[in-house]
Amino acid sequence: AGLMTIRAYHESRGDTNRNICIIPASAHGTNPASAVMAGMQVVVTKTDEKGNIDLADLEEKVLKHSENLAALMVTYPSTHGVFESSIRKITRLIHEHGGQVYMDGANMNAQVGLTNPAIIGADVCHLNLHKTFAIPHGGGGPGVGPICVAAQLAPFLPGNPVIPTGGKKAITAISAAPWGSALACLISYGYIKMLGAAGLQKATEIAILNANYIKERLEGKYQVLYTGEMGRAAHEMIIDCRPFKQKNIEVTDIAKRLMDYGFHAPTVSFPVAGTMMIEPTESEGLSELDRFCDAMISIREEIDAVSEGDNQNVLKNAPHTLEMVTSDHWAFPYTRQQAAYPLPYVKESKFWPSIRRVDEAYGDRNLICTCAPIEAYADSE
Ligand SMILES: *Cc1c(COP(=O)(O)O)cnc(C)c1O
Repeated sequence: AGLMTIRAYHESRGDTNRNICIIPASAHGTNPASAVMAGMQVVVTKTDEKGNIDLADLEEKVLKHSENLAALMVTYPSTHGVFESSIRKITRLIHEHGGQVYMDGANMNAQVGLTNPAIIGADVCHLNLHKTFAIPHGGGGPGVGPICVAAQLAPFLPGNPVIPTGGKKAITAISAAPWGSALACLISYGYIKMLGAAGLQKATEIAILNANYIKERLEGKYQVLYTGEMGRAAHEMIIDCRPFKQKNIEVTDIAKRLMDYGFHAPTVSFPVAGTMMIEPTESEGLSELDRFCDAMISIREEIDAVSEGDNQNVLKNAPHTLEMVTSDHWAFPYTRQQAAYPLPYVKESKFWPSIRRVDEAYGDRNLICTCAPIEAYADSE
């Protein structure tokens, strides 16, 4: 909807040729997908070794496409978990070349009450209500995403054939329900009403504090891939699990092992393959954060204990199900206690993973039918 609004704005000014959308390499896959759906052509701009948008590369691309520049889609703070200090320089550059700035609002949990999209020069942003304005943040959906626009884009906000909404020069309806999902909107309404302005700001502050607390506790155990100039994370951080590949330990093994410790793993391999993205939000208390850090530190010790060429270890075999641990047969070179109760807190409240591993992305890429073949019916007859 945001990009279509930008498109309508350019068209209204006779700039029908403006169809280039610049997107940083670190962007979420939904960004280029949306740009293509909105009829734009995607130009990817690089990120530097610190994870920030590569300004020189961006300038080059903006100059090259100046005539046809429609928009920049940018996530702030970035998907690398950093408040990019050159963000205003970036948005100014886009404006100077006639483009509009679309801010992906997925990381608003690090902005609410402290800063806002207008300050950085965004012309449109969407708010992932199911992320920032819900508990659990982003937990399972359904999603809803209103867009907010600057004055020059307001006339083009989408209309609806049944319910009068949108601007004076409204584009056609994007969503069948013009105000989104009543179910999801109520959750956000409750979240905002109950916290109030001061509470929302506090939530942001605690989210950032929690992320940096985890970052400090994991210091020396895991490498945090990107940080801001002051050595801090925003509300999330990426830890690099690629060095463990030497021991044949993959980020997936860490994710699966976390289940034995009672945790559902954070996002893996986005936005950087082989890494883990940790976003604690404000919703977890100190004891839960500590349990998580203890688990991660303990897993790091387990990684250290793996010797090269050893493929029968607690990580590779994780998660350990109740069925495995209670079986009369135990053929692993470590104990059942190590498998199921790696830390004292796990004994107090054990979560038992019900199944072992399915083959990761295999099932996403291959249609597997579990129903009986037609012959089975014929045979039974
Ligand atoms: C989650 C996320 C999205 C997608 O948002 P949904 O509304 O959950 O589909 C887009 N961009 C970023 C940076 C995200 O983290």
